[in-house]
Amino acid sequence: MRRAAPFRADVLVVGGGINGAGIARDLAGRGLSVVLCEKDDLAAHTSSSSTKLIHGGLRYLEHYEFALVRKALAEREVLLRSAPHIMWPLRFVMPHDPGMRPVWMVRIGLFLYDHMARREVLPGSRTVDLRRHPAGAPLKRHFRKGFVYSDGWVDDARLVVLNAVDAAERGATVLTRWACVDARRGPQAWQVRLQGEGGATRELGVRALVNAAGPWAAQFLAEHAHAPERKSLRLVKGSHIVVRRLFEHDHAYIFQNPDKRIIFAIPYEGDFTLIGTTDVEHGGAIGAARIDATETAYLCEQASRYFEHPVQPADVVWSYSGVRPLLDDESGDPSAVTRDYELELDSAGGAPLLTVWGGKITTFRKLAEEAADLLGAPLGAPKGAWTRGAFLPGGDFSALIGAPQRPDTDFMRLVAALAKRHPGIDAQLLHRLARAYGTRADTLLAGSGLGPQVAPGLHEAELAHLHANEWAHSADDVLWRRTKLGLHYSAAERDAVQSWCRAHWQAAGSKAAETAWN
Ligand SMILES: Cc1cc2nc3c(=O)[nH]c(=O)nc-3n(C[C@H](O)[C@H](O)[C@H](O)COP(=O)(O)OP(=O)(O)OC[C@H]3O[C@@H](n4cnc5c(N)ncnc54)[C@H](O)[C@@H]3O)c2cc1C
Repeated sequence: MRRAAPFRADVLVVGGGINGAGIARDLAGRGLSVVLCEKDDLAAHTSSSSTKLIHGGLRYLEHYEFALVRKALAEREVLLRSAPHIMWPLRFVMPHDPGMRPVWMVRIGLFLYDHMARREVLPGSRTVDLRRHPAGAPLKRHFRKGFVYSDGWVDDARLVVLNAVDAAERGATVLTRWACVDARRGPQAWQVRLQGEGGATRELGVRALVNAAGPWAAQFLAEHAHAPERKSLRLVKGSHIVVRRLFEHDHAYIFQNPDKRIIFAIPYEGDFTLIGTTDVEHGGAIGAARIDATETAYLCEQASRYFEHPVQPADVVWSYSGVRPLLDDESGDPSAVTRDYELELDSAGGAPLLTVWGGKITTFRKLAEEAADLLGAPLGAPKGAWTRGAFLPGGDFSALIGAPQRPDTDFMRLVAALAKRHPGIDAQLLHRLARAYGTRADTLLAGSGLGPQVAPGLHEAELAHLHANEWAHSADDVLWRRTKLGLHYSAAERDAVQSWCRAHWQAAGSKAAETAWN
C-alpha cells in the first residue's frame, strides 16, 4: 500500500520550461497553492534552445496558419511591455531574391503581418534600397532590394526564470532537479512521487496535475502518469550556430533558402551573429539533441548565399540544438508541421490532468492563461486571469524612470538611471546587469558591494543572488542559461566559475532542495 502523501498542494506542474513556468506563475497569482518540478535546470531544454524571437511567424502565413499568426502577433507587444529588459523590438531585413518568392507575394504577406494585430510600438514594414541601407553592406552586390519588418527578441532562458521567480514570489514552490517519476490518479487527488538528483524521493498529494513536459509530454503520460495518450508529438530538432559578428548594424536578416525554408542571421550578445535554424526529424534520446555536420554545413551554405564573406564551419564558435515538441498534424515536411498548441483537460478518470501539446515561446502567456482558466474553475481559484498587463520581475521600471513610454527607450532610460545611482560601476557591467535583472540590478548593486571577481565581470554577489533567488546550482546554469557569459569567456575563465560553484554550492545544493520542501 502507498504511504499517505505528507505534502499537499492544489496543483503540481511538471516541467520547468516556458510553458510550465508560465502556468505555475499564472495559477499562483490566482491564489492556488502550486508546486513546479523540473527534472534538470529551469529552461534546460527546448526553452533555452529557441531562435529567441517574439514573432507571429511570417512564414506560417504560407501554411494558412492565420489564427496562430494573429494570436502570436497580438502577444508581441504584451510581452515586450512586461519585461523590457529581456525583450526588445527587432527589425528584420529580407533581401529580395528574384529566384524565390515574387515581390507581390512578399508584399501581401507583410501587409497581413502589419495589419493582423494592433501595433503601438513596433513600426510597420517597408521596402529598402540595399545599395543605400546599412543592411546592404555585408551582402552580395546583386541584392539590391529588400523588405524590412518588425518582430521582437527575447532572452528565452531568462524569460523562463523570471516566470519561476514570479511564481515563487506569489507563493509557488519551485523544485529544480526533482523529476516526477510516478503519478497515480484518485477520484479527488493525485498521489505523486518526485525523485531528487541524489535519488531521494518525496510523496505529494495534489488536486490537479499539469503535464508541461514539452518534448517529454507523451512519454510522461505513458510512463509516469499511467494515462492514455490521445494525441501525439512530432519531435523536430532545430540547431543554431554562433559565429563572430558578421555585420555592424542592429538589424537581423531573414534569408529564403532554395528548399523553401528560411533561416535567420541575428545580432547576438554584442560580439556574435546567431544563425539558424534547421528542421530535422529527431529520433534519438530527447535530451541529447546535438547539431551534426550536415546541419552546420547547411546553415553555412545558406548564409553564404547572401553574405559577401562566406561563412565556414571553422568559423563556428558555439552551437546549440533543441527539440520542438510539435503537435502532430501529419504534415510530411517537418517545417510545415503546425506551431500551434492544444490544451487537453482530462477529468473523466477523477482528479484533473491537463496536458500541454506543442506551443511557442511567443504564445506562452496566452497558453498559461488558457490553462489556468481551464483549471481555475474546478479548483475554485479565488482570482481570475491577471497576467495581461502585469510585469515580470525587474520589468516595472517606473520607480526609477517614471511612467513607461516605449519598452525600447525605457530600457535606455533605466540604464541611465542606474548609472547615476551607481557611478562607480563599469558601464559594460552595468548594462549587462540591467539587461539581466532590470530594476533588480539596483538592489544587487545597492548591497554591500559586488564582492570578489570570479571571472571577468562576474562577482560573488551576483553568483550568490543567482543561487538564492534563481535556483542556479552549477556553473552551466550560470554560464549558459542565467547569463550567456560562457560565450564570452575562455576555457580557463569558465573553469574558474566551475571551481567556484563546486566549492560553494555542491554541499549547499542538497540542503537547499530539502529546505524548499519545508
Ligand atoms: C530550434 C527551435 C527554435 C525555436 N524558435 C522559437 C522562436 O524563435 N520563437 C518562439 O516563440 N518559439 C520558438 N521555438 C519553440 C519554443 O522554444 C518551444 O515551443 C518552447 O520552448 C517549449 O517549451 P516547453 O515548456 O513546452 O518545453 P521545454 O522547454 O522542453 O520544457 C519541458 C521541461 O519539462 C522537463 N521534464 C520532462 N519530464 C519531466 C519529469 N518527469 N519531471 C520533471 N520535469 C520534467 C524537462 O526537463 C524540460 O525542462 C523554437 C523551438 C526550437 C527547438
